[in-house]
Amino acid sequence: MGKDIVVICDSQEYDGEHVLQIITKARSLGDKCDSKVSALCVGHWDDGKADNLFRYGADNIVFCRQDQRFDTPYFVEIIADMVKQIIPKIILVPATVIGKMTAAILSTRFEAGLTADCIDIDFDETGELYFSRAAINDSVIAKIKCINCSIMMGTVKKDVFIKKEYDRREQGTIEEFTYNGIEEKRSDSWEVLERIEKEVKKDIDINSYKKVFCIGRGVKNKETLERIYSIAEKCGAGVVGTRAVVEEGFIDKARQVGQSGKSISPHIYVSFGVSGASQHMVGIKNAEIIVAVNTDKNAAIFDYADYSMVDNIEAVLNELEKIAEA
Ligand SMILES: Cc1cc2nc3c(=O)[nH]c(=O)nc-3n(C[C@H](O)[C@H](O)[C@H](O)COP(=O)(O)OP(=O)(O)OC[C@H]3O[C@@H](n4cnc5c(N)ncnc54)[C@H](O)[C@@H]3O)c2cc1C
Repeated sequence: MGKDIVVICDSQEYDGEHVLQIITKARSLGDKCDSKVSALCVGHWDDGKADNLFRYGADNIVFCRQDQRFDTPYFVEIIADMVKQIIPKIILVPATVIGKMTAAILSTRFEAGLTADCIDIDFDETGELYFSRAAINDSVIAKIKCINCSIMMGTVKKDVFIKKEYDRREQGTIEEFTYNGIEEKRSDSWEVLERIEKEVKKDIDINSYKKVFCIGRGVKNKETLERIYSIAEKCGAGVVGTRAVVEEGFIDKARQVGQSGKSISPHIYVSFGVSGASQHMVGIKNAEIIVAVNTDKNAAIFDYADYSMVDNIEAVLNELEKIAEA
């Protein structure tokens, strides 16, 4: 079994905040078990970045110079060859999209035990390494040990460790790594068919609204939807919806209220064309005042409503518009 602790640095920013936090943690683990900490980097050489890695606890830097833009499969192949040369005891990787992908591939190649999304890493009283992570819907913190494997790996979430300066520059060594096997390895194992850019949407905090307007399937067209949004804005209300309207593409999934959506506890909830299915109502059980608009006087939502309006949505919106503009 190897002895080193390896930190795989980010493919874009190899001395980024997240990496430095992990380097610091690796340093403290290394001090406990008398291991060296090696930072594996791929990219443009930069003295300042190297200094940072030493300052926060690295003993060695293994660096593969890549001045061209490179992709993840390429990055993984280079890192895999570096790991093969070092055969470390522990590998720590930032829990980013690329980091997780790299860790998953390395763990199968090297038959390493891998714990994802670690929030702590330490040795127990018998000197065995364990990784801590949230489990069972975040209800418990599990301590995980890797058994029957020579390399123990963990992906580490950002901000769970605090970076600390060690200034080990004097002891630091830098090894330039040359990777030759790119093309044949890339074409053997990867074929990129298409790149689809994913738009990362910021999660909406629908719980921050004190007033909400809820859209149900009774809202049948875009014009009505836009009227509701416009009145909501004037009244300082947020807009949420039932699963039915999410499925119809009327509203974002992030705004779905109910069993398979979110729970909200506004001061006032006003529904437009919502039938009141139990799977929806469970999400508004903490609403203080429920107002319901529905053409069907037998709609289940009226059993829960503090104020019931048996009427057409459009008619109620006409009145609301007058109030909002007054
Ligand atoms: C496992 C599971 C999980 C689920 N999770 C959720 C969840 O998280 N959230 C959720 O909302 N649902 C959830 N559902 C779906 C739920 O059972 C209902 O199907 C859904 O809530 C119905 O949405 P709705 O009230 O908008 O539509 P509908 O039930 O179709 O109701 C539309 C209402 O609009 C009224 N209406 C029609 N036209 C007008 C008009 N012009 N003016 C006024 N009123 C009008 C109708 O009388 C009717 O009552 C889940 C279901 C399952 C099985």
